[in-house]
Amino acid sequence: MIYLDNAATTPLDESVLKAMLPYLKGVFGNPQSQHFAGREAAGAVLSARDKTADIMGCAPDEVYFTSGGTEAGNTALKGVCAAAGKGKIVLSAIEHPALLDSAEDMKKFGFIVELVKPGINGIVNPDDVARAVTDETVFCAVMHANNETGVIQPVEDIGKICSERKVFYYCDCVQSAGVLPLNAGICDAMGVSAHKFYGPKGAGALYIRRGANIARLMSGGRQERGFRGGTHNVAGIVGLAAALENAVNNAQANNKKIASLRDGFVERALFEIAGTHLNGDALNRVPSNANISFDGCDGANLLFLLDLAGVAVSTGSACSAGATTPSHVLTAMGLGETRAKSALRFTFGKYNTAREVDEVVLALKTAVGKIRK
Ligand code: PLP
Repeated sequence: MIYLDNAATTPLDESVLKAMLPYLKGVFGNPQSQHFAGREAAGAVLSARDKTADIMGCAPDEVYFTSGGTEAGNTALKGVCAAAGKGKIVLSAIEHPALLDSAEDMKKFGFIVELVKPGINGIVNPDDVARAVTDETVFCAVMHANNETGVIQPVEDIGKICSERKVFYYCDCVQSAGVLPLNAGICDAMGVSAHKFYGPKGAGALYIRRGANIARLMSGGRQERGFRGGTHNVAGIVGLAAALENAVNNAQANNKKIASLRDGFVERALFEIAGTHLNGDALNRVPSNANISFDGCDGANLLFLLDLAGVAVSTGSACSAGATTPSHVLTAMGLGETRAKSALRFTFGKYNTAREVDEVVLALKTAVGKIRK
């Protein structure tokens, strides 16, 4: 099996599992409890919070542990809207559904939503964000790196625009955490998810700037300073911090290795298979991602044949009611429906090898040939 879907999720690192195991077994106390068992668990959460805050570039009391990136995005967008009561939401058209669908939900309460499209290279122009952010705007989200194309966005410039206009800016860092430096200073809130950097699924962190005008979504216990009730997922939180620390400490070496595999693959795929097109800016992207369209092929069929050959990749298209809709990211970039539907996303990780690249190129040539025939 060759796994090239690391943007969907990554395997749990052995060292992360080791760090988590005590909290799945012996140390089972509830961090809220007042006795020794609770204190032991609370100590682990405290230490994970300190590590996470340090890496995100914020204070420990600005970190809220969540179930992942979806909850982080929902909490930021809906929490700001609930506190504001009315207004406009500005999102890039290439955000993850965690943001796009949350904004759609807010329309029912009278909020106005404007989507800002990127250019053909997949990059959102800060001037377009500046035009969309008006006096009524209460929330803006433009992600750090896109999950389909890997294209990196000018988030510092967008953060500046929002800060000058006193608009709450959420930066989805799910695809960039552990790969690019995180800087809470450029935004009001930022979300990361452990399973994207070799940590456990169902564990994430949300930074929210101290003093931001935001309502909580999860009422209940006093966990997370009363903002997010619910018993802590202690092992998940410990795993998140361990995985993030690991990823950041090894980012330079891993990025170099992954980029070299990805670049070798792209070069060969584009050169050895006719009618192929790289989608999104070639240089300004995270090291793992290659999004390629194959003329005369349907991405879903190609994925199926590669799956049969033991290669795991992904399409950006969504399947609903038996019909596939082309990727909202590629279509927002201005690529036509045919090109968008013929795209596959290959995302490399630290466990891939050069030999696998050779095998994938071969499998790809065979699959494309079969479909085109
Ligand atoms: N945001 C982005 C950019 C993502 O790629 C994903 C997951 O694919 C999410 C948010 C959702 O994260 P989670 O799976 O932790 O809910």
